[in-house]
Amino acid sequence: MRISRTLPPAATPITFTDIVSGIRGLVRGPRARRNFCDELKAFYNVRYCFAFSSGKAALTVLLKALHEINPEKNTVLIPAFTCYSVPAAILKAGLKVALCDIDAKNLDFDFHELEKKIKTCYDAGVKESLLAVVPTHMLGIPADVERVKDLRGDQEIFIVEDAAQAMGGGETGKKNGALGDVGFFSLGRGKALSTVEGGIILTNNVAIGESIARQMKNISDYTLLGTLKLILYALVLSVFMHPFLFWIPRGIPFLKLGETLFERDFSINKLSTFQAGLAANWTKRLRRMADLRRRNAKALDQAFQGKTDPAFSLVPLDGDPALLRYPMKISDDTKRASLISAAERRGLGITGSYPEAIHHIDALEAAFNGRIYPNAERTAKQLVTMPVHSFVTLQDRRQIRKLIEHTLSWTDGAL
Ligand SMILES: *Cc1c(COP(=O)(O)O)cnc(C)c1O
Repeated sequence: MRISRTLPPAATPITFTDIVSGIRGLVRGPRARRNFCDELKAFYNVRYCFAFSSGKAALTVLLKALHEINPEKNTVLIPAFTCYSVPAAILKAGLKVALCDIDAKNLDFDFHELEKKIKTCYDAGVKESLLAVVPTHMLGIPADVERVKDLRGDQEIFIVEDAAQAMGGGETGKKNGALGDVGFFSLGRGKALSTVEGGIILTNNVAIGESIARQMKNISDYTLLGTLKLILYALVLSVFMHPFLFWIPRGIPFLKLGETLFERDFSINKLSTFQAGLAANWTKRLRRMADLRRRNAKALDQAFQGKTDPAFSLVPLDGDPALLRYPMKISDDTKRASLISAAERRGLGITGSYPEAIHHIDALEAAFNGRIYPNAERTAKQLVTMPVHSFVTLQDRRQIRKLIEHTLSWTDGAL
């Protein structure tokens, strides 16, 4: 175990002041949650907002609601490279996972393949099974939701915007989360805004909104013990997320920090009033943190632009997105592995992304028997992501840059 400054790969600070607001929310009761939802509705200019215990809980509920509207369809089409919680939520909703390869350049759908998948379903006739398509703003890089809408045309296929990693992004009038028929955010530990855990659904569609409202009747609040655990966890995070102390939780194996697990067994609760309170002043905090992340990402991007190395490529960043992490691809396996382990020794928070494409998750592999999604597979093997959160300093960025230059042998100086 290394005992020194360690950057968390992703970190959304929860301060002591936030926790006091959380306690205030607990005291105010359900009004605190209604208030948070009303603020979200106003900010996103949507009719419906619902708040849950996690992004995957939100996705599960919204998919069940879509299936209630369109019961004869049961397949959900997602990118073959995405968060493992997405297929987990689809299965939990009792639906089937279908995959579309990604565009290795920008991590959005491979639109050529998407078109074939949507059109085939269209051509094959009346009651094909495609219920929904899930465009995803991976790492905060904007997905082209409009283009998915164009492909859908007037078919009855819902567009579910996975904005789990992209809250606060987008433009005025076209904010992420409000671009599809229905969208969701995650308020998890490393996301743009964090209430320890949490998820939000937004929709402007009355049929979807009313269907979700019916689902809500069966969803319970956190238990008292559950709420106490949240408070404790918020306190722990507020202390140990800091780079001067993060080496402690990092060194405790059973916390499984940084591991990607496929978990089908998760609970679905309404966001607690403590969490709604934690989100106080969320618009201001979201903006401030996004600005810091944008600045860090831009500085890293400038450092690496113009490097020509066949083993290395950048993800083009158009439109100044507030990324959650800064991505690059390293195609040389040995160099990539050595970069990640050297970064771990130095506590620089550089990690890979999801370890495998979705069809290679052990529990799912049989369902996709032998199908291949080459860009998703390659991306899982090549992607490296760097921290850009508010704890990242100029000194950290310098060290990250030097380590990468050294690993890729752009410089031969000592580190
Ligand atoms: C985090 C995440 C989710 C799930 O959110 P949780 O709050 O962790 O359940 C879904 N999709 C993407 C792309 C994510 O990054």
